[in-house]
Amino acid sequence: MSVVFAGLDAKVSGVQDQLERAFIEAPSVDDVCLTCSFQAEDVLLLKLALELRPDLPTLFLDTGYHFAETYAYRDRIAREWDVNLINLLPLTTVATQEAQHGLLYQTSPDRCCAARKVEPLFRAVANYKVWITGLRREQAKTRAALEESALFTLPGGKQVLKLSPLAQFSTADVWHACEDLSIPLLPLYARGYSSIGCEPCTSLPLDPGDARSGRWAGRKVECGIHIQAAR
Ligand code: SF4
Repeated sequence: MSVVFAGLDAKVSGVQDQLERAFIEAPSVDDVCLTCSFQAEDVLLLKLALELRPDLPTLFLDTGYHFAETYAYRDRIAREWDVNLINLLPLTTVATQEAQHGLLYQTSPDRCCAARKVEPLFRAVANYKVWITGLRREQAKTRAALEESALFTLPGGKQVLKLSPLAQFSTADVWHACEDLSIPLLPLYARGYSSIGCEPCTSLPLDPGDARSGRWAGRKVECGIHIQAAR
C-alpha cells in the first residue's frame, strides 16, 4: 500500500481478522450472509470476505429500479468472482406496483422502500445468524454511532448479529484499498455519483461535502433496512 495510506494496511488486516473470527464462530456457510449493493465499500468487503469464504451467500436487493450500469456491474463481478449471489426480489413486480399505486418513489418513497427493500431484506436476513454489511460511520450522520458488531432485531423479534467491519473506514480508505486490490468499480462513480442506489432516487451529489446528498433529493436519508424494528 502507498506510504500516504500506510495506516490502511492495519485497517484492512483488522477487517480480515474480524471476518475470520466471524467465520470461525459461525462455521456453516448457511449461517452468515453479506449484503452487497455493489457500491465500492460493499465490493471491497465482498472481495476480502470471499478470500476466507468463497461460497458466502451474497444478498443483492433487486428493487427493479437500479441503473442498467449497476445490473451489468453486478453480473460482471458475480461472474468473474464466482459469487454465490442471491437476488432478493420484492413481493410485487415494478409493473404491478406501478399499476396499483403509481410512482410510489415520487409520492411515497418510504412505502416504496418498505416494499422493495426493507421487506425482502428482512425476510432474507432472518435465515441467517450473522449479517455482514459495508456500512461506514462517515457515510451519514445517521451512521455516526455505528458499531462494528451489534445485535439487530428483525420484525418478529429474531435477533441477528450485524457486523460492519468497515465502520471506521473513510471514503479515501475505501478508494485506496480498492485500488491496491485492483478492484474495478461501478462505472457510475466516474460520472460523478458518490452514493448509488435506485435510479429514480439517485442524482449527482447536491452538496459536494455530503456523499449521500444525491439520494432521494434530500427528502429522506435512509431506506430503512438499517433501522431497527420497533420493539
Ligand atoms: S430507493 Fe427509490 S425506487 Fe428504490 S425502493 Fe426506495 S423509493 Fe423505491
